Parts: sequence; C-alpha cells; structure tokens
Amino acid sequence: MNSLPFRRYRVSAIHEESSTIRSFELVPAEGGSLPAFAPGQFLVLRLPAGQNGEFVMRNYSLCCPQGSDSLRIAVKHEGPPSDAPHLPPGCGSSWLHERVTIGSTLEATGPRGDFILQSDNRRPVVLIAGGVGATPLLAMFHALASEPEATARKAWFIHAAETGSVHAFGGEVRRLAASRSGLSCHIRYRSPAPEDLEAGRCDSTGTVDRALLQSLLPLDDYEVYLCGPPAFMKAVHAALRGLGIERARIHTEFFGPTTLLEEAEEKAPAPVDAALASAPETEPESCQVRFTRSGKTALWQEGTHSLLDLAEQVGINANFSCRAGVCGMCLTRLVKGEVRYFEEPLEPPEAGTLLVCCSRPAGPVEIEL
Ligand SMILES: Cc1cc2nc3c(=O)[nH]c(=O)nc-3n(C[C@H](O)[C@H](O)[C@H](O)COP(=O)(O)OP(=O)(O)OC[C@H]3O[C@@H](n4cnc5c(N)ncnc54)[C@H](O)[C@@H]3O)c2cc1C
Repeated sequence: MNSLPFRRYRVSAIHEESSTIRSFELVPAEGGSLPAFAPGQFLVLRLPAGQNGEFVMRNYSLCCPQGSDSLRIAVKHEGPPSDAPHLPPGCGSSWLHERVTIGSTLEATGPRGDFILQSDNRRPVVLIAGGVGATPLLAMFHALASEPEATARKAWFIHAAETGSVHAFGGEVRRLAASRSGLSCHIRYRSPAPEDLEAGRCDSTGTVDRALLQSLLPLDDYEVYLCGPPAFMKAVHAALRGLGIERARIHTEFFGPTTLLEEAEEKAPAPVDAALASAPETEPESCQVRFTRSGKTALWQEGTHSLLDLAEQVGINANFSCRAGVCGMCLTRLVKGEVRYFEEPLEPPEAGTLLVCCSRPAGPVEIEL
C-alpha cells in the first residue's frame, strides 16, 4: 500500500471561533505555493497525538475562500461522550487545541474528498450544517458569494448549533449572505441562552426540521449539501426527502461520532445484524490482530479506540473517511475471528467483511489490510 504524500505546514495564525472551535491558518513550512482545492475538500493531518505519542490521522475541512494566502481549518475540541464522561477527550482535537501555537508545524496531506460544490449546473444551492459541520459549507458559501453577478446562483446557508457560545462563523456567514443579492442565511439554536436571543445571534430556535426547510425554501429544484453528525444528517436527509428533493441532489459529508447535536436528534433504530448480535458483549483486555496483506501483527489493548486506529499505529494507511461507520470507505475483508461495533454501521457490512473504523476485536482476528 502506498504511503500518502505528507507536507509540512507552519501555523501562521490561530483564532478562537467559539468556546469549543478554534481555527488554524496554515502556510507551507518549506515555502512554495499552496495546493489548489475545491470548496468542500479536507486535509488529512498526521498528529503525534496518540497515548504514547503515536500518530493518528484526522480529517479537517478547509473553510477558507479559494485563493487565500493560507489554508484555514477549524477544529472543535471534542470532549468525552456525554454518556461516558470518564473517557478521555478526543486525542487529535485536544492535541491541536492544547499543543499547537503560532509557529508550530503540522503534517498534512490533501486536499482530498469528493464532497465538492458542483459547478456544472446552475441550480440554486442549499447548504445545511450541524455544529462544526459548517466548515466545508463555509468554503462553498465563499465560492458562491464570489460568483460573477451575471451567472450567480441563489444560495441558502442554514446552520444549526446548540447555543451561541459554541456557534462559530455566525458573523462571517451573515457578512457573506449580505455581500450580494440572492444569498441568505438562517441560524437556528437548539438551546439559546437569554443573551443569544437578546443579541439576535440566532434567527429561530429548535432543530432543523421539515417545517423550517419548508418555510425558508420556495419550491424549486435545489442542489443540497449537508454536513454534520450522523444523527443530524439522518434527520435532515429524511426531511429533505419528505419535501420531494431527489436523493441524487443531496450531497453529504459525515464528520464523526460525537457532537452535541447528535443528542438533539431522535436516533434512528439501529440495524441488527446476526453476526453482530452473536458477538460477545465484552471486549478482551488484549488479543492478537493479524493484518494479512501487510504481514503485520499487533497486540490489541483495552483503551485502543478502533481497529482502524490500531492499523494506523503499526503504520498501515487504510482507506477511511468518516471514522463513524457511515461512509463505508474502510470496508475490509474479515479473514478470521469476530468483531464488535461500538458505533453501529449505517449499513451492516456483509458477512466476511467489516468496517475497521468503528469496530473492536471480540477475540483474536485476522483482517485483510
Ligand atoms: C471528511 C471529514 C472532515 C472533517 N472535518 C472536520 C472539521 O472541519 N472540523 C472538525 O472539528 N472536525 C472535522 N472532522 C472530524 C475530525 O476528523 C475528528 O474526527 C474529530 O476532530 C475528533 O477527533 P479526535 O481525535 O479529537 O477524537 P477521537 O480521539 O477520535 O475521539 C472521538 C470521541 O471518542 C471518545 N473516546 C475516546 N476514547 C474512547 C474510548 N476508549 N471508547 C469510546 N469513546 C472514546 C472521545 O472522548 C471523543 O468524544 C472531519 C471528519 C471527516 C471524516
């Protein structure tokens, strides 16, 4: 398997975007030009953020306009899951928030990703973000704001956040919406503080639902871009389909398992898969994991997040995108043994395969990586 080409970037500026989200501006550490990117794409960062300084790979969407002097990413400091506060906070985002200062260098590859603003049609565009899922959509909104007046598309930016203190980029989105006719934005908080309402930081309260979409969007043939935590995506996707928007017109990016909004949305019933149901309830403290293609063997130890993390720790670059059992990018052949899913896959994988991003071994396993 080929190694990904990583490049070093120097952090040239850091901004507090909210109480939990910080943005980092990056310039090439060794000089040279910035890579081109399409609005919606992300960088993969290789961070020495594992328990013992091992590398972990984390994706961060570019949220800057094209043609900027630097690349900008914005990172939410991921706390422990609300139902397991004893767990450590997210290692990659904690490392970025706690260890990175102006002048630090970061290794990144990309930009990559095919969640990009389509430019081959002139349909009106609807961007719908949950929490930090605003980042790729912000790059798209910048691109839409700078379209030439004669061919400019209409566009809406709808952003759901928990409350004003965690909401990022409100000012930037409002300025873009006001920058030309045909652009609008709507900000909705689930639990606004009284001062959020007094200051008019949000336009409405609640979650993004069918009634809100119906009230904002005149009947039309839209191209929709949706990004946020999986449960938010499922709820908004269902609302859009309910409004008659074709599946092919809804483009999605998944960010990962943990955000506040996830708790706000009703969880869809989890699919039950016979192979999963038969797996033991407890995980072994340690067991052997053999990666058959690379010929590597690693010891699984309690506390390791996923089989994908273990593979990365031993230097295997597996395919992945969402790290949340949603996109299917990390589907791999399960040669021997059984696994348990700590995050229920959106589509249960077929027998003899597994999603390494959201599973842990139920005993010794062999995986084709
Ligand atoms: C295409 C794409 C683009 C993305 N863009 C962005 C972006 O622009 N901005 C952004 O902020 N994020 C983005 N993400 C998400 C980002 O890549 C990371 O997943 C996110 O920052 C969390 O990583 P982490 O290392 O901090 O958390 P992790 O270490 O992966 O932890 C995730 C969660 O698991 C919990 N946890 C820790 N240990 C355990 C355990 N033993 N058992 C169970 N749970 C545990 C942690 O407390 C945390 O809540 C993107 C993801 C994708 C796929």
